[in-house]
Amino acid sequence: MSIAKILLPTAALGLAGVLMLPSQSDAFSVLGTSLTTSQRHFRVFNNFTDPSANDNVTPDTNFPGYTGATMAIWKGAIEWGSRLHGNGNGDPSQVGGLGSGGANFDFYFVGNATGVGSIGDNICSELSGSSGGTLAFTEYFLPPGFNGWRMRFYSGWTWADGPTTGIPVNQDDLQGVSCHEFGHALGLDHSASGGATMFATSTGTGTSARSIEADDIAGVQAVYGVASAGKPIISSIATALNQVTITGSNFSATNNQVWFTQATAGSLTSVVVSGLSSNGTVIVSTVPANAGPGDILVKTSGSGNASLSNAWPFIPGTAPVCPSPYNYCFVNPNSADPNGAFMGWTGTQFISQNNFVLFTSGMPPGSAGIYFFGSGLTALPFGNGWLCVTGSIQRLPIVFTTFFGTASYNLDVTAPPAAGLILPGTAFNFQFWFRDALAGGSNFNLSDGLHVDFCP
Ligand SMILES: [Zn+2]
Repeated sequence: MSIAKILLPTAALGLAGVLMLPSQSDAFSVLGTSLTTSQRHFRVFNNFTDPSANDNVTPDTNFPGYTGATMAIWKGAIEWGSRLHGNGNGDPSQVGGLGSGGANFDFYFVGNATGVGSIGDNICSELSGSSGGTLAFTEYFLPPGFNGWRMRFYSGWTWADGPTTGIPVNQDDLQGVSCHEFGHALGLDHSASGGATMFATSTGTGTSARSIEADDIAGVQAVYGVASAGKPIISSIATALNQVTITGSNFSATNNQVWFTQATAGSLTSVVVSGLSSNGTVIVSTVPANAGPGDILVKTSGSGNASLSNAWPFIPGTAPVCPSPYNYCFVNPNSADPNGAFMGWTGTQFISQNNFVLFTSGMPPGSAGIYFFGSGLTALPFGNGWLCVTGSIQRLPIVFTTFFGTASYNLDVTAPPAAGLILPGTAFNFQFWFRDALAGGSNFNLSDGLHVDFCP
């Protein structure tokens, strides 16, 4: 006895039947629904119980940060994309070919979920039990209340996460079956074309459904339109500390958004940075702290299906490990402060950000002084205080202490004497020398020392 493995049509909650609008000449059918531009995201609740559903632990640069069932389902979604996802790799059975939809439509992955969610939460998960020959199903509401979906895979089957197509005959392919179900989520019903991903029944392990066929492509293009000439395109990205530079085309002059995957599993749909301007081909965005590895997507200032870009794999730039500056050496009292003068700082020691600010407090007001620095540390009595810096001493311009007895200086690592000297990986020691005529003696004093490591 053979059981037909059914890839169940979407269930129309609260209604008796599935709305079907067969087209005249094509084999595909549409459900009469489509996802709005705010419903292109999906998440995975990785509650899959079969070891074979999560035994692919090899990372893939096109699907950063996730492996196992989550990555397999991510691949199933991305095949419907308007163009290649990254370089299109990730599926050994369609090398350089993931992302075949060519429509004004792209799913994008926004991270793992912590539960199965509700219909409309766009979460894929396993459902305990079985239902005859049904492998999986996608739930949604019919219009006018249509607003997202939910995808369930019956635990009665043995699920496999690939990545190769060499799956045992008694297992079913998460990537292929999810690719079929994502077709329902985007608004397609079953196709009459036997080779189509949207054909109602699965053959073998279901890996052949991983690659959408001409009939499936015609279907997604019928629902969302062929990818418009003006649709924004991401063609490459470059990441730096807390920043991403997106290169592509058709970005708006103002009010672009960049959508990120959430860093941790949770209830957020996506992480959005708004109000970004562009020359049309480049967008520079900060990377919020709650953005993690996954996809990024650009939304232009326009509206409608053609206002969203393709999804592009993304990994946040990692912050270099850079030790904090520290104080050292000694201080003596001065005429204004019996505790003496101490160094401080604001900004960062990252050369790329060039925003390090020297700060000193505890001095007489209105006094002339100079910050200076050198590569060596020392502690020698000097004037009314201590000299804490040695080596080849570099002097910065004269500054005057404020009414409050403080001083500060914005260190510009691109200007002399720092330029060419203060480079990534170097360390220098800073100190403030100031006049103190009221104290007598040598008529000058100094702060303590500040040791600073500079990083890229
Ligand atoms: Zn189906």
